[in-house]
Amino acid sequence: MALTGLQIFKMLPGGKKEKEANCKKCGFPTCMAFAMKLAKGEISVDECPYMSYSLKNLLDEQKRPAQYEYAYGTPKGQVKIGGETVLFRHEKTFHNPTIIAVNLKSSDEYFRQKFKKIRNYNIERVGETFGINSINLIDDDESFIEKVKFLADKNIPVILSSSSSKRISDALKVTGLNKPIINLASKNLSTIVKIQQKFDVIVTINAKSFEELKKKSKEFKALGGKKAVLMLTTSLSKPFEFVKDMTKIRQLAMRDKDENFAYPIMTQINFSFDKYYDALLASISLCKYSNIIVLPEMDEAIITALFTLSQGLYTDPQKPLQVEAKLYEVGEPDEYSPVFVTTNFALTYFAVVTEIESLDKGAYLVITDSDGMSVLTAWSASKLTGEIIAKAIKNSDLESKIKHRDLIIPGFIDVLKDEINLELPDWNVVIGPNEAADLLKFLKTYKATEITS
Ligand code: SF4
Repeated sequence: MALTGLQIFKMLPGGKKEKEANCKKCGFPTCMAFAMKLAKGEISVDECPYMSYSLKNLLDEQKRPAQYEYAYGTPKGQVKIGGETVLFRHEKTFHNPTIIAVNLKSSDEYFRQKFKKIRNYNIERVGETFGINSINLIDDDESFIEKVKFLADKNIPVILSSSSSKRISDALKVTGLNKPIINLASKNLSTIVKIQQKFDVIVTINAKSFEELKKKSKEFKALGGKKAVLMLTTSLSKPFEFVKDMTKIRQLAMRDKDENFAYPIMTQINFSFDKYYDALLASISLCKYSNIIVLPEMDEAIITALFTLSQGLYTDPQKPLQVEAKLYEVGEPDEYSPVFVTTNFALTYFAVVTEIESLDKGAYLVITDSDGMSVLTAWSASKLTGEIIAKAIKNSDLESKIKHRDLIIPGFIDVLKDEINLELPDWNVVIGPNEAADLLKFLKTYKATEITS
């Protein structure tokens, strides 16, 4: 926890009633005034020549990030992990989305085909594209080094898992791969630290329980280890224990700045025969603070669910996802195509566009500037009014593109019909469905009314 001004004051000469108290050498009239500024981070500790080493150390410790941030991969293909500063998303925001990695064994006879499948997988959701970010290469035959080289050439960030520190050393020397994560689970900590120091790589600290993890993390640091990710290897078989342990780790890292838990966390999921259970475990570990999740194989259903969940978690809760407020031409609209209006909340926009795209005819979509709010929220906050809709229509230049004046509004805001008519007297306001999912049904009976005069 950050020291308060009063706590700092108590450790300064003024608080300890020493002879240097309030000497003004720091430029402040009292030690209390200096302490208050220091607590806000507005001045340097060096300004007070009488500050004790213990207070300096405490303040230095405060500057350390709650969780280390690392990049791993190759210069052309890197991902970032860690660097989180809060326990809960609503406190601020989470920074680096959880990396989804997939296992690949060096002995796999379909190694290249599987790699291709992993590489080619991507999904687009609410304007963002997601793909598999990393591969966990498992050393289980003589071709390991060759496979490391193959993956390094493809610029995909890798985790190298092996039981041989010699093989890992050889692989790092031969391939020049400079920033992988090294998982030597079966080796003792001093061997792991030697590899970490020699190649300046990130290594895993593996443990079967919270207590063991704490002990090993402490030992790692005492041995001079620097970059690490923590791995709890068995607790996923007991989801309740896993949630408890992961929450404890995160709390200790964020709230207490416990240096034993300042490292990012990696979780290995082992699939069972029950897909729902596997998806549940992977989702729990994503919600409960895993910075990397390693899946045993490429399972598109689970991976798609994970990216969907991740997108919800790793957006800034204070900034709603929004799209640009303007006129969108969806498909190839003509002079008689329907005209819809809705807000610039990204989820609303993509839901409407997805429905319209499934039609064989195009449409115009007028997006209002409504601070990224959904239709009902925007209406209740006066961010979707007749005036705002009229302004969007007038700015769109639609009248030169179409030969009708029908404007289809979401059913939820039918109360705005008269208000819109006042602002746009030449337009005919049509009440559409409440939900985007009902647009196709609505359009089956809808026909634009051509201008007669
Ligand atoms: Fe107090 Fe140090 Fe400032 Fe002197 S220099 S007033 S001892 S804080």
